Amino acid sequence: MSNERLIPEEIERVLLDEETIAARVRDLAAQVSADYGDSDDLVLVGVLKGAFIFMADLARQLSVPHRVDFIALSSYNKGSISDGAVRLIMDTRTNLTGRHVLIVEDILDTGYTLDYLLRIFRAREPASLRTCVLLSKPERRKIEVPVDYLGFEIPDVWVVGYGLDYADRFRTLPYIAALKREVYV
Ligand code: 5GP
Ligand code: MG
Repeated sequence: MSNERLIPEEIERVLLDEETIAARVRDLAAQVSADYGDSDDLVLVGVLKGAFIFMADLARQLSVPHRVDFIALSSYNKGSISDGAVRLIMDTRTNLTGRHVLIVEDILDTGYTLDYLLRIFRAREPASLRTCVLLSKPERRKIEVPVDYLGFEIPDVWVVGYGLDYADRFRTLPYIAALKREVYV
């Protein structure tokens, strides 16, 4: 077997390579570790499935004690058009009340998903509630949501890899890449 990594033909271009992502995730983990240094009871809540790789890398770089938990959401839309309707498919197992909650999300697009999560989590009265988002497409925002830790801003293109999919494909590519428009339009 060859060690050469093949880039699937559906990929237009690589936006963020493995090293660039790893360096940024280390920075984010250092910031989070510094900010939560003297608070115990930090819970990272990863949004499935897209955040699973980011969550794993971020969590392993933290120098503060923490738990990890996950939620799964579904938008009612198909593909890339979102009407803002979000549904909770799987809730956290951890009781968030009185804990420091950090939502870990793959990508902020219209903002509806994160806004929904912030609203349902606020109602559980956590000790604090913040957001850590790997990617943001500022041009696409429909609703403003607070991002406390942000990895990268990217243009309005459909990206895959590092946890992100298109129709459940491409999630485990080690880089983040733009799909060819003809694949998703
Ligand atoms: P929002 O609610 O902010 O519009 O959408 C956030 C969700 O849409 C993300 O959690 C992600 O699941 C999905 N999403 C938005 N843009 C992209 C993209 O470029 N690639 C992938 N794979 N998912 C995206
Ligand atoms: Mg997502």
